[in-house]
Amino acid sequence: MTLKPQTALVVAVAVRAFAVQPTRDEVVRLICNQKAPCEGFCYPCIALANRISQLYAGERDGR
Ligand SMILES: [Zn+2]
Repeated sequence: MTLKPQTALVVAVAVRAFAVQPTRDEVVRLICNQKAPCEGFCYPCIALANRISQLYAGERDGR
């Protein structure tokens, strides 16, 4: 799964709905539930969630 602009937007909006920064597992769940929920945490969603978590962590650090 690639991080398409549309996917990134959907995730960004959903992530902003959290009062605090979501955990990676929560991000994985968000991505997996976008279309058909994956069985368990699939690798593509985990990889994407890792990237998103890094982006948000970087943003929080003021980069
Ligand atoms: Zn998935």
